[in-house]
Amino acid sequence: MVDAATETATETARQAAIAAIDAGAEGLVRLSKFIHANPEVALEEVKASAACADFLDERGFAVEKAVAGLPTAFSASVGQGSPHVAFLAEYDALPNLGHGCGHNLIAIAGIGAGLGLAAALPHLNGGRVTVFGTPAEEAVGGKIVMAEAGLLDGVDAAMGAHPGTIEAVCPTVEGSGEALACISVEIAFRGKSAHAAADPHNGVNALNAVITTFNGIDALRQHVKSDARLHGIITDGGDAPNVVPDYARAVFFVRAANLGYMHELVDKVRRIAEGAASITGATLELALPESANSDMITNYPIARGLKRHLDALGLEMPEAKPEPASGSTDWGNVSYVVPSVETAYPILDRVCTWHSPEVVAASDSELGYANTLLVAKAMALTGIDLLTDPALLAEAKDAFERERAARTA
Ligand SMILES: [Zn+2]
Repeated sequence: MVDAATETATETARQAAIAAIDAGAEGLVRLSKFIHANPEVALEEVKASAACADFLDERGFAVEKAVAGLPTAFSASVGQGSPHVAFLAEYDALPNLGHGCGHNLIAIAGIGAGLGLAAALPHLNGGRVTVFGTPAEEAVGGKIVMAEAGLLDGVDAAMGAHPGTIEAVCPTVEGSGEALACISVEIAFRGKSAHAAADPHNGVNALNAVITTFNGIDALRQHVKSDARLHGIITDGGDAPNVVPDYARAVFFVRAANLGYMHELVDKVRRIAEGAASITGATLELALPESANSDMITNYPIARGLKRHLDALGLEMPEAKPEPASGSTDWGNVSYVVPSVETAYPILDRVCTWHSPEVVAASDSELGYANTLLVAKAMALTGIDLLTDPALLAEAKDAFERERAARTA
């Protein structure tokens, strides 16, 4: 039962959140424009992470920089105890492109939501909000490192927002908001150089081993589940046509609907590479990173709450529908630790190719900033719901436990 006095306090909290984001809007947009104008790639986000952390520090957050051993990660907290709601802010750019994924907007969506929920806290019965600065989404995945370091332990819910086209949706229904588990597999071969015409019989061709690996993976592709994706490039393929390459290297991404099947496929890829080594006589060096991107467990109870606020604020989007995952994100690893939602939202009034100059422009556009601030408000209001509605929090936790158990069975 919610009594009238509690409901009045909650309404005051909502108004405080909206007012704080409105009051902070100019500063948030300035911060985002600074990140956009100074694009820094994964793990080099020195200016962006400092600007974001200092912005929150100046507004009363307790900031810790370089968390989880990542120089460009940070955490910024207000309040204490539980529930503890987190907003995740990304800020890395793409090499040779700039902010072609709009992470300068993701940064202020999370930071703006943090400002809003922090302003609401004095009107509520305790609780805590943390903004995490999560670097290198486009490369190693800062969130993977941060989740493994235990930074998200004790957090009750995590939210973030990713820009998209006019087709962007908030993942409210079963089967939406999926992402593929993904790992990079480095496959190198060492052979023996020789003159390619004079004495090829003395050579061991490392490039042939790489090509044989590609052919083996092409053959495997017919026999994998439809959600699996195997794709690679050759990074080293020899230096001159008249020298038998003594070294060649390829890097593959292996993706699947869950970590279990992904690891099965990695084993098959390993056996193919071993076969290629055996065929050519080259020596295989196969390397895997310590951890992979997990698949994504979207928390639908939280997503539905968020969608209601997005609708009420006038940020209308198409209804979500079950869709096979097409990409991977380090959000997946967060989603195995904390009930998580990463909503998409439009910064364009049309469809376009992502990671493109068009997106660079949209990430510094009036529509981009306006919709990002609306999403920040909706996330702050959802945070208030989670802090004031034990039933919603319980429903979110139930859904999280159930789905995680099903996926790790
Ligand atoms: Zn992105």
